[in-house]
Amino acid sequence: MVIDAHLHLRDDVYVGEEGTPENLVRMMDEVGVDKAVLLRLYVPPRKAMEELQEARDRYPDRFIPFFYALPDFSEPTLKLMEEAIKKQGFKGIKMHAGICRLESYIVDPVFDSASELGVPLLIDPAGDYQNTERLAKSFPKAKIIVAHLGYYLCSDGTLLDRFISLARDYPNLYLDISGVLLVDKIEKAISEVGYERIIWGTDGPSNQPEPISFTRKEMEKVLKLGIGERKKRAILGENIANLLGIENNE
Ligand SMILES: [Zn+2]
Repeated sequence: MVIDAHLHLRDDVYVGEEGTPENLVRMMDEVGVDKAVLLRLYVPPRKAMEELQEARDRYPDRFIPFFYALPDFSEPTLKLMEEAIKKQGFKGIKMHAGICRLESYIVDPVFDSASELGVPLLIDPAGDYQNTERLAKSFPKAKIIVAHLGYYLCSDGTLLDRFISLARDYPNLYLDISGVLLVDKIEKAISEVGYERIIWGTDGPSNQPEPISFTRKEMEKVLKLGIGERKKRAILGENIANLLGIENNE
Protein backbone atom coordinates (compact mmCIF):
# COMPACT_ATOMS: atom_id res chain seq x y z
CA MET A 1 0.00 0.00 0.00
CA VAL A 2 1.35 3.41 -1.01
CA ILE A 3 0.51 6.26 1.36
CA ASP A 4 1.41 9.89 0.87
CA ALA A 5 1.93 10.90 4.49
CA HIS A 6 1.88 14.64 3.79
CA LEU A 7 -0.75 16.03 1.43
CA HIS A 8 -2.56 19.36 1.64
CA LEU A 9 -6.22 19.97 1.04
CA ARG A 10 -7.21 23.01 -1.01
CA ASP A 11 -4.04 24.84 -0.25
CA ASP A 12 -4.99 27.90 -2.26
CA VAL A 13 -1.88 29.79 -1.28
CA TYR A 14 0.12 27.60 -3.63
CA VAL A 15 -2.10 25.72 -6.00
CA GLY A 16 -5.49 27.32 -6.43
CA GLU A 17 -8.04 24.80 -7.61
CA GLU A 18 -5.68 21.85 -7.69
CA GLY A 19 -6.13 21.04 -4.03
CA THR A 20 -9.80 20.01 -4.11
CA PRO A 21 -10.65 16.49 -2.86
CA GLU A 22 -11.66 15.40 -6.38
CA ASN A 23 -8.45 16.64 -7.94
CA LEU A 24 -6.34 15.08 -5.21
CA VAL A 25 -7.96 11.68 -5.68
CA ARG A 26 -7.60 11.93 -9.46
CA MET A 27 -3.92 12.73 -9.01
CA MET A 28 -3.45 9.86 -6.53
CA ASP A 29 -5.14 7.43 -8.94
CA GLU A 30 -2.91 8.57 -11.76
CA VAL A 31 0.30 8.05 -9.81
CA GLY A 32 -0.72 4.96 -7.83
CA VAL A 33 -1.13 6.41 -4.36
CA ASP A 34 -3.68 4.43 -2.32
CA LYS A 35 -4.17 6.76 0.61
CA ALA A 36 -3.01 10.15 1.85
CA VAL A 37 -2.65 11.81 5.22
CA LEU A 38 -4.67 14.95 4.59
CA LEU A 39 -3.78 18.31 6.11
CA ARG A 40 -5.36 21.72 6.02
CA LEU A 41 -3.51 24.89 7.05
CA TYR A 42 -4.11 28.65 6.96
CA VAL A 43 -7.62 28.50 8.44
CA PRO A 44 -8.81 28.23 12.08
CA PRO A 45 -8.80 24.67 13.48
CA ARG A 46 -12.58 24.21 13.34
CA LYS A 47 -12.78 25.20 9.70
CA ALA A 48 -9.83 22.94 8.90
CA MET A 49 -11.57 20.11 10.75
CA GLU A 50 -14.83 20.58 8.89
CA GLU A 51 -13.18 20.68 5.48
CA LEU A 52 -11.09 17.61 6.22
CA GLN A 53 -14.14 15.73 7.51
CA GLU A 54 -16.02 16.54 4.35
CA ALA A 55 -13.16 15.31 2.14
CA ARG A 56 -12.79 12.14 4.23
CA ASP A 57 -16.54 11.44 4.17
CA ARG A 58 -16.47 11.75 0.40
CA TYR A 59 -13.45 9.44 0.05
CA PRO A 60 -13.26 7.44 3.27
CA ASP A 61 -10.82 4.88 1.85
CA ARG A 62 -8.44 7.46 0.50
CA PHE A 63 -8.01 10.24 3.04
CA ILE A 64 -6.62 10.07 6.58
CA PRO A 65 -7.28 13.44 8.23
CA PHE A 66 -4.90 15.01 10.76
CA PHE A 67 -6.24 17.68 13.11
CA TYR A 68 -4.70 21.13 12.65
CA ALA A 69 -3.72 22.27 16.15
CA LEU A 70 -3.36 26.01 16.18
CA PRO A 71 -4.00 28.31 19.14
CA ASP A 72 -7.38 29.88 18.51
CA PHE A 73 -9.00 32.66 20.55
CA SER A 74 -12.52 31.75 19.47
CA GLU A 75 -12.59 28.29 21.10
CA PRO A 76 -10.32 25.94 23.07
CA THR A 77 -8.20 23.98 20.59
CA LEU A 78 -7.63 21.05 22.95
CA LYS A 79 -11.33 20.33 23.28
CA LEU A 80 -11.77 20.46 19.54
CA MET A 81 -8.77 18.22 19.09
CA GLU A 82 -10.23 15.61 21.41
CA GLU A 83 -13.49 15.75 19.49
CA ALA A 84 -11.64 15.31 16.18
CA ILE A 85 -9.74 12.26 17.41
CA LYS A 86 -12.37 10.57 19.56
CA LYS A 87 -15.54 11.33 17.63
CA GLN A 88 -14.53 12.17 14.07
CA GLY A 89 -11.86 9.52 13.54
CA PHE A 90 -8.96 11.88 12.91
CA LYS A 91 -5.70 9.91 13.13
CA GLY A 92 -3.10 12.50 14.09
CA ILE A 93 -2.15 16.11 14.76
CA LYS A 94 -0.44 18.64 12.53
CA MET A 95 1.50 21.67 13.76
CA HIS A 96 3.57 24.12 11.75
CA ALA A 97 6.33 26.19 13.37
CA GLY A 98 6.33 28.61 10.47
CA ILE A 99 2.82 29.62 11.49
CA CYS A 100 2.84 29.19 15.28
CA ARG A 101 6.07 28.99 17.28
CA LEU A 102 7.02 25.78 19.05
CA GLU A 103 7.29 27.53 22.41
CA SER A 104 6.30 25.39 25.33
CA TYR A 105 3.18 27.28 26.39
CA ILE A 106 1.70 26.79 22.93
CA VAL A 107 2.66 23.25 21.99
CA ASP A 108 3.18 21.36 25.24
CA PRO A 109 -0.53 21.02 26.07
CA VAL A 110 -1.11 19.65 22.56
CA PHE A 111 1.75 17.16 22.96
CA ASP A 112 0.42 16.09 26.35
CA SER A 113 -3.00 15.48 24.93
CA ALA A 114 -1.71 13.67 21.80
CA SER A 115 0.38 11.36 24.01
CA GLU A 116 -2.70 10.53 26.01
CA LEU A 117 -4.87 10.02 22.93
CA GLY A 118 -2.14 7.86 21.37
CA VAL A 119 -1.99 9.66 18.03
CA PRO A 120 1.14 10.84 16.20
CA LEU A 121 2.02 14.48 15.63
CA LEU A 122 3.30 15.69 12.29
CA ILE A 123 5.43 18.73 13.07
CA ASP A 124 6.98 21.09 10.58
CA PRO A 125 9.71 22.57 12.79
CA ALA A 126 10.83 25.10 10.14
CA GLY A 127 14.41 24.49 11.18
CA ASP A 128 13.79 24.97 14.91
CA TYR A 129 16.20 22.31 16.16
CA GLN A 130 16.21 23.44 19.78
CA ASN A 131 12.47 23.09 20.32
CA THR A 132 12.34 19.82 18.39
CA GLU A 133 14.98 18.42 20.74
CA ARG A 134 13.08 19.73 23.75
CA LEU A 135 9.84 18.11 22.55
CA ALA A 136 11.54 14.78 21.76
CA LYS A 137 13.01 14.76 25.28
CA SER A 138 9.95 16.01 27.16
CA PHE A 139 7.41 13.75 25.44
CA PRO A 140 8.89 10.25 25.10
CA LYS A 141 5.40 8.79 24.64
CA ALA A 142 4.48 11.13 21.76
CA LYS A 143 5.21 9.79 18.29
CA ILE A 144 6.62 12.79 16.49
CA ILE A 145 6.95 12.91 12.71
CA VAL A 146 9.45 15.63 11.78
CA ALA A 147 8.53 17.05 8.38
CA HIS A 148 11.11 17.69 5.65
CA LEU A 149 13.99 16.19 7.70
CA GLY A 150 13.63 19.34 9.81
CA TYR A 151 13.52 22.19 7.32
CA TYR A 152 11.56 22.61 4.07
CA LEU A 153 13.78 22.79 0.95
CA CYS A 154 16.84 23.16 3.15
CA SER A 155 20.24 23.50 1.49
CA ASP A 156 22.13 23.56 4.79
CA GLY A 157 23.32 19.96 5.07
CA THR A 158 24.72 20.51 8.56
CA LEU A 159 21.32 21.46 9.94
CA LEU A 160 19.69 18.38 8.39
CA ASP A 161 22.49 16.24 9.85
CA ARG A 162 21.57 17.52 13.30
CA PHE A 163 17.93 16.53 12.85
CA ILE A 164 19.01 13.09 11.57
CA SER A 165 21.24 12.57 14.62
CA LEU A 166 18.40 13.68 16.86
CA ALA A 167 16.08 11.08 15.31
CA ARG A 168 18.80 8.45 15.70
CA ASP A 169 18.97 9.25 19.43
CA TYR A 170 15.22 9.49 20.11
CA PRO A 171 13.13 6.47 19.13
CA ASN A 172 9.93 8.54 19.36
CA LEU A 173 11.02 10.59 16.32
CA TYR A 174 10.15 9.75 12.72
CA LEU A 175 11.44 11.60 9.65
CA ASP A 176 9.18 12.74 6.80
CA ILE A 177 11.19 13.07 3.57
CA SER A 178 8.90 15.48 1.72
CA GLY A 179 10.35 18.78 0.53
CA VAL A 180 13.95 17.57 0.74
CA LEU A 181 16.41 19.04 -1.77
CA LEU A 182 19.53 17.20 -0.61
CA VAL A 183 18.60 13.67 -1.62
CA ASP A 184 21.80 12.23 -0.14
CA LYS A 185 20.43 13.23 3.27
CA ILE A 186 17.52 10.81 2.71
CA GLU A 187 20.06 8.02 2.24
CA LYS A 188 21.92 9.17 5.32
CA ALA A 189 18.70 9.24 7.36
CA ILE A 190 17.86 5.68 6.29
CA SER A 191 21.25 4.33 7.27
CA GLU A 192 21.51 6.24 10.57
CA VAL A 193 17.94 6.13 11.83
CA GLY A 194 16.80 2.91 10.15
CA TYR A 195 14.28 2.64 7.31
CA GLU A 196 11.43 1.83 9.74
CA ARG A 197 11.29 5.44 10.91
CA ILE A 198 11.54 7.10 7.49
CA ILE A 199 8.22 8.18 6.03
CA TRP A 200 7.42 9.21 2.46
CA GLY A 201 5.21 12.19 1.73
CA THR A 202 4.99 14.74 -1.06
CA ASP A 203 3.88 17.95 0.64
CA GLY A 204 1.77 18.28 -2.48
CA PRO A 205 -0.15 19.15 -4.41
CA SER A 206 2.29 21.34 -6.27
CA ASN A 207 2.18 23.11 -9.59
CA GLN A 208 5.92 22.69 -10.03
CA PRO A 209 5.58 21.73 -12.84
CA GLU A 210 2.07 20.27 -12.33
CA PRO A 211 0.57 18.00 -9.62
CA ILE A 212 0.84 14.60 -11.31
CA SER A 213 4.45 14.82 -12.44
CA PHE A 214 5.37 16.49 -9.15
CA THR A 215 3.98 13.53 -7.19
CA ARG A 216 5.63 11.07 -9.53
CA LYS A 217 8.97 12.80 -9.12
CA GLU A 218 8.66 12.71 -5.33
CA MET A 219 7.91 8.99 -5.48
CA GLU A 220 10.89 8.38 -7.74
CA LYS A 221 13.17 9.79 -5.05
CA VAL A 222 12.40 6.64 -3.06
CA LEU A 223 12.20 4.23 -6.00
CA LYS A 224 15.69 5.29 -7.13
CA LEU A 225 17.33 4.66 -3.75
CA GLY A 226 19.86 1.87 -3.63
CA ILE A 227 17.89 -0.11 -1.08
CA GLY A 228 15.84 -3.31 -1.44
CA GLU A 229 12.20 -3.44 -2.49
CA ARG A 230 11.04 -4.34 0.99
CA LYS A 231 12.56 -1.19 2.48
CA LYS A 232 11.13 0.96 -0.31
CA ARG A 233 7.65 -0.43 0.36
CA ALA A 234 8.04 0.32 4.04
CA ILE A 235 9.06 3.92 3.40
CA LEU A 236 6.33 4.44 0.77
CA GLY A 237 3.49 3.33 3.01
CA GLU A 238 3.94 0.52 5.51
CA ASN A 239 5.75 2.61 8.10
CA ILE A 240 3.02 5.23 8.32
CA ALA A 241 0.34 2.50 8.15
CA ASN A 242 1.90 0.84 11.19
CA LEU A 243 2.15 4.12 13.01
CA LEU A 244 -1.52 4.87 12.38
CA GLY A 245 -2.73 1.31 12.96
CA ILE A 246 -4.04 0.98 9.40
CA GLU A 247 -4.62 -2.55 8.12
CA ASN A 248 -2.01 -3.30 5.52
CA ASN A 249 -3.79 -5.80 3.32
CA GLU A 250 -3.13 -4.39 -0.14
ZN1 LIG B 1 3.28 20.70 4.22
